[in-house]
Amino acid sequence: MSKRVSKPMPPRILERMRDIYAEFAPSNECWEWPKSRNVQTGYGQMGYYEDGKHFSFAAHRVSLVLSKGQPDDFSLCAMHICDNKGCFNPDHLRWGSHKENMLDMHSKGRAQDYKDHARKQSGANHWSTRLKDRIPKGEANKKAKLTDKAVIDIRTSTETLAVLANRYGVTETAVSYVRRGKTWKHVSPAT
Ligand SMILES: [Zn+2]
Repeated sequence: MSKRVSKPMPPRILERMRDIYAEFAPSNECWEWPKSRNVQTGYGQMGYYEDGKHFSFAAHRVSLVLSKGQPDDFSLCAMHICDNKGCFNPDHLRWGSHKENMLDMHSKGRAQDYKDHARKQSGANHWSTRLKDRIPKGEANKKAKLTDKAVIDIRTSTETLAVLANRYGVTETAVSYVRRGKTWKHVSPAT
């Protein structure tokens, strides 16, 4: 497992978060972390290598640092106001002391969850499967900036990511995900 770090975040981690932000329109809803999660805690995570070692940050912590800045006190915890571990909407997060965080976890019965979580990470119990019906696909999802037609254009076009990103007002990362079928899986053809 990678090491938990309490040190300034490398700018490239914050840049990556900024790119991911661009795929979520401002809204009061929870933003479900679209990438990997820590199997033990259930929190979204972002990893990187430095001097050959792997480090990772909790995604919601990165989100809070990007939106509100890193407090001088590195022992502060990034806490969820919405109680949704997979959420990284900065409006749903706040800084709190370690003690506050523990009290919050216990009051919500989440301490036990941590132990159970690893067992729940497969098959029908995996969060993406459980939430599947609650997350509308593509155009039915209000946050989507692309349309089915745009997706087909992106996948069949030989133009560069930059050209397509500019045309549809999304990031190059978003275009690349569409092209590789990582997002918009329900629209074919994926290449
Ligand atoms: Zn939330």
